[in-house]
Amino acid sequence: MSWEDNVRKVVPYTPGEQPKSSGVIKLNTNENPYPPSPLVAKAIKEYDASLLRKYPDTGASELVEEMASAYGVKSENIFVGIGSDDVLALAFLTFFNSESPVIFPDITYSFYDVWAELYRIPYETKALDEEFRLKKEDYLCDNGGVVIANPNAPTGVELSLDVIEEILAYNRDRVVIVDEAYVDFGARSALPLIDKYDNLLVVQTFSKSRALAGIRIGMAFGQKKLIDYLKDVKFSFNSYTLNPLTIAVGAAALRDDAYFKDITAKTVATRERMKKELKELGFSFADSRTNFVFATHERLTAEEIFTFLREKNIFVRHFKKPRSIDNYLRISVGTDEEIDRLITALKELIR
Ligand code: PMP
Repeated sequence: MSWEDNVRKVVPYTPGEQPKSSGVIKLNTNENPYPPSPLVAKAIKEYDASLLRKYPDTGASELVEEMASAYGVKSENIFVGIGSDDVLALAFLTFFNSESPVIFPDITYSFYDVWAELYRIPYETKALDEEFRLKKEDYLCDNGGVVIANPNAPTGVELSLDVIEEILAYNRDRVVIVDEAYVDFGARSALPLIDKYDNLLVVQTFSKSRALAGIRIGMAFGQKKLIDYLKDVKFSFNSYTLNPLTIAVGAAALRDDAYFKDITAKTVATRERMKKELKELGFSFADSRTNFVFATHERLTAEEIFTFLREKNIFVRHFKKPRSIDNYLRISVGTDEEIDRLITALKELIR
């Protein structure tokens, strides 16, 4: 017998690499290539550091109220956390407490099975079809909860709201989490459905479309009862999560809707151009509604392309996972200039 027998052993999630060197074109973690709103820099500059003496507002009300007005919901319908990873982890802990397995696609955000393992939640994955589409029948079954990333990651594929609604209607007796980390890049949000379905939790983040991955803000929307259960678990774990500077920064970002719309539109335009150019070079991919493209090449392996690009200081993401995705690369949408350099490098390799 050793103390190690009592250790909760986990295989952690592996985040994308954050290279220390400069001069890297970083297209591997779906960060926004643009800086956050200038109002964010202003809020940081003007922040009164003496406020850090005190514990933060546990309700993060300045941020939550700004969010309520930006998203057209009540404050009681909002839960905030340290990035959507924190929100999702707490949602798994709160809502998935059944003997029946929680279900999600076999190819999706690779943190879901890590949380399920960590909390010892039974789970089952459902195979996507050949075109990385979810088969809705798989979600109309007995289960302990449902998790759907929409658009999905790393595939970029959007699921229609009609199908989401069918899944919600069938699963009235369990919680359905819709993880909308990438929804702002041209997909439809399930947010309007929270009034109708008390089992729906919509999770979003400031990390992608609001260019604030470093500040760590994520949120969940749902009916008050659902949000209150989430708060009970959060306040049984750590009351002080969002710090006051983060709260001020998040609220400032929300006040600049024009900037948000501008950088999002730029990313969408670059993505569409990137799709065209990648196609011409022999890549294929499912239609992406996100800030990345999940592509495979007709001739070269993903590994070969990954290694070549890395030597050129262009980082993309390669998941060495079984099934069909190990021959795919997930390439984040950068600035136009970054994508030009990516395409130039690829031409060198491919032609
Ligand atoms: N959900 C999905 C589908 C993601 O790809 C990510 C980013 N890794 C997250 C949630 C978490 O993002 P964050 O914690 O930065 O909000």
